[in-house]
Amino acid sequence: MKIICIGRNYADHAKELGNQVPAEPVIFMKPDSAILPKGNAFFIPEFSNDVHFECEVVVRIDRLGKNIEERFASRYYSQIALGIDFTARDLQQELKAKSLPWEKAKSFDGAAFVGKFFDKSDFSNLEAISFQLKKNGEIAQSGHTGDMLFSIDRIIAEVSKYFTIKIGDLIYTGTPAGVGAVAIGDELELILEGRPAGALRVK
Ligand code: ZN
Repeated sequence: MKIICIGRNYADHAKELGNQVPAEPVIFMKPDSAILPKGNAFFIPEFSNDVHFECEVVVRIDRLGKNIEERFASRYYSQIALGIDFTARDLQQELKAKSLPWEKAKSFDGAAFVGKFFDKSDFSNLEAISFQLKKNGEIAQSGHTGDMLFSIDRIIAEVSKYFTIKIGDLIYTGTPAGVGAVAIGDELELILEGRPAGALRVK
């Protein structure tokens, strides 16, 4: 499987990092080795002093497809979850400054946490879902899918122009504002429309 991620999909997050709001989705990938195994803690890697959480809605693809039209995209997934796109922000800024690819900052082992999957039919409107990340019991990030610049279906249409999507692939749909650093001992909890959607500890 592969992990496809969307960058700058919420205007307020693009602004907080000093980036332009994109005219089309910003796409990058993580390898399958980036998945944090279920039940594991997240270990801060040695090469970064500024690892950020980015809480995102994650879509699991359950049908093979290529060049999918936006109006048919909803047939290609039936489950969503919340995940964390862990990012070594210091390394990412360094790479961006040199116009180099981001992979070292975003695709390292453990950099993709995904929580519990829910059937999309549990939600009346996927474009009106609220979600939160709590750090040590306090809300750090709060998002609403209605604020996405590109909807899930539009993302699938765009991504599948370039890559065949396969069963089991995950799409991280971008983070809202409020990203911040993690420290050893932090407890992170994810909440999707008021439901517990995942938890992990930082080590
Ligand atoms: Zn992200």
